[in-house]
Amino acid sequence: MAMTPTKSPAPKFYNIALPVPLQGTFEYRHPTSLQIGLRVKVPFSGRELIGIVVSHCKQPSTAPQKIKSILSIIDSEPVLPQAIFDLCLWSAQYYLHPIGEVFAAALPGKIKQGAALHQTIRTLVLTSPELDSIAEETVKRSPKQRALLGALVERTALSRDELNQAEWSSAVIKALIDKGLARWQDKIEVNPGQPLHNPPNSAIQPTLEQQLAIDSVALQEHKTYLLYGVTGSGKTEVYLRLIDQVLRAGRQALILVPEIALTPQTLTRFEYRFGRPVVALHSNLPDQKRSEHWRRARSGQAPIIIGTRSAIFTPLARPGIIIVDEEHDSSYKQQDGFHYSARDLASVRGVAENIPVILGSATPSLESLHNVTTGKYTQLLLESRANGAARERYEVFPIPDNQKEALPDNRLFDAIAATLNRGEQVLVMRNRRGYAPVLFCSNCRWIAQCNACDARLTVHKQTAGLKCHHCGQQHPIPNRCPACQQSSLLPVGDGTQRLQETFQNRFPGYPVIRIDSDSTQQRAALTQMIDTIQQGQPSILLGTQLIAKGHHFPNVTLAIILEIDQGFLSADFRAIERTAQLILQTGGRSGRETLPGKVYLSSRLQALPELRALIKNDYLAFSKSLMAQRETYQLPPFTYQGLVRADARQPQQADQFLQQLLGQYQAPDTDCEVLGPTSPLMEQRAGWYRSQLLVSAKTRQSRHRALQQLRDYLTRHRQPAVRWSIDVDPVDLF
Ligand code: ADP
Ligand code: ZN
Ligand code: ZN
Repeated sequence: MAMTPTKSPAPKFYNIALPVPLQGTFEYRHPTSLQIGLRVKVPFSGRELIGIVVSHCKQPSTAPQKIKSILSIIDSEPVLPQAIFDLCLWSAQYYLHPIGEVFAAALPGKIKQGAALHQTIRTLVLTSPELDSIAEETVKRSPKQRALLGALVERTALSRDELNQAEWSSAVIKALIDKGLARWQDKIEVNPGQPLHNPPNSAIQPTLEQQLAIDSVALQEHKTYLLYGVTGSGKTEVYLRLIDQVLRAGRQALILVPEIALTPQTLTRFEYRFGRPVVALHSNLPDQKRSEHWRRARSGQAPIIIGTRSAIFTPLARPGIIIVDEEHDSSYKQQDGFHYSARDLASVRGVAENIPVILGSATPSLESLHNVTTGKYTQLLLESRANGAARERYEVFPIPDNQKEALPDNRLFDAIAATLNRGEQVLVMRNRRGYAPVLFCSNCRWIAQCNACDARLTVHKQTAGLKCHHCGQQHPIPNRCPACQQSSLLPVGDGTQRLQETFQNRFPGYPVIRIDSDSTQQRAALTQMIDTIQQGQPSILLGTQLIAKGHHFPNVTLAIILEIDQGFLSADFRAIERTAQLILQTGGRSGRETLPGKVYLSSRLQALPELRALIKNDYLAFSKSLMAQRETYQLPPFTYQGLVRADARQPQQADQFLQQLLGQYQAPDTDCEVLGPTSPLMEQRAGWYRSQLLVSAKTRQSRHRALQQLRDYLTRHRQPAVRWSIDVDPVDLF
């Protein structure tokens, strides 16, 4: 019989996503059939990279013999569940961002580097299940080895922890391994998220409003809900009750919070309530922890996952609900690289997984309010404070024209003194960190400027330096004016550090706790400060907007907001929305328990109608008038925007580059216009000169077509001196 030569199967080609800043996927070959979604190792311009199999490639775009082979296959199952894999593909398309970088943003570092998908634990096991007489013989003379062998027979496997606990010496273990009786084995860890304790019966009885909101959410299907509840209306209780139902149905809950809110207190609060382990996912976690938590979410072992922006990509084995707390918060939008909005992606993900998505806020974004109007989102309303506390009341204190400082006048100082004397707390919000925003020469009017940015340097006292808040540069404070050589330099205006000094001098008997990004560099420091505040001792809490975010400080009865006028005067049409949110969020920290809350604003614009409208504490009415303006001027959410940004080291270079681009652009339809190029308000930042084109369209589709055309031109005509990026739905235009 003639031998038939074994035919080698025809090579198959695959499109692989790689973590490189280049559009599209890359073609590789592999002799056998591969599942979509596996991680593979491939050669790429002299390096080895780990990528993800995105699709079969039926018709390679290059000559087949030129296509390189995949070096190795890492996984035996797809790294992401279908819904998240699809979400990544969708994001790459919608945000016009390279798919490889999207996957890179979605996966924890260790997983990107090829770490195992499952949490494994190292255990010592017997090499053969039955011990024969020869085995008995080899350990006859060592009682310790005999005992360990006995333990292995009894327990089948012993983890490192168990071995350590029983105090088996490594010599004994090694002896058994050397004799061929035992070996190490990595086992997939199964940790079903054991209850930590019996959850307490909630002392809180939901109010009618809360109950109505809870009952309105259908857990079996997708809808996006906007939970619009005034500050202190008990949104958290609504989340907790919904999560409880989800857990009872054996499903998982994913909760997104703004960067700052992810304190240990938040985690403890959830753990206490449910008596189940809660895992955190944020970029400050050590790599090891992050991938461990990610694995627990993916395998279904973690019932509750709380995370910041990037946690929206967390795979869940049994997804049940997604909650986005403080949905208006700008930290949900990634500001560089892959410019995604975690809030918007939550809704997209909810559709794919057919689960409810709850967006919660006391000051919802105009986008979300608009989605309620058009019927895309369902609104849930909480109009009064849950514990019966009255809403806080606002009052404006004019700053005299001749006063430079935002410092409160005497009436404000009196109010602070009275509040402290009653044993209550005062919260002061000043959205400027540092000691003074300006260093000024009283002789020649010189002002300290950053040489890499179009920005002033801020005086910092503790570190005795001038700092640029945009590029991070630091300089010592000069003794004399560099321009006129006189000793006439003055710090002008007040930042949080200077106010801390002022309050300490004025109220020496009371602690002044300062919360800003300088004082909270250490996460532990922030946690400690929040703990102290919650204990309720009379004190002054001073800080930037960080202090306004979602905290529940029961003993604050007076909130003071110092000079936020700039937000009302900015050229950025979103500035006024953000300022309004900041005012009401800060004010909302006041009077959350039984004591009534007051809010005083110092402003030079007391006559401004917007400010007047806002202090009636009616965000809905305020947002309606803002919405009408947006409609008149055809701004988002009535139109769809996209930005093409370009940066270069030389002045005008980026601008000329975008001019060229615009010269090539052919409008795909009349629904879309491209404006610019223009320079952002801060033209130079960190040594780069910036320019941008704004795409504004009546529909998402026509915006997409326009941006796609621009992107394709940009990828084909790279200029080494210019870097560019695309931002879809930009929130920061200036
Ligand atoms: P929000 O997040 O809406 O600003 P919180 O969820 O922090 O408000 O709730 C504010 C306060 O009201 C908390 O002290 C909370 O314990 C309390 N609270 C919430 N729901 C109820 C309720 N149904 N009855 C009594 N107190 C409640
Ligand atoms: Zn001078
Ligand atoms: Zn700078």
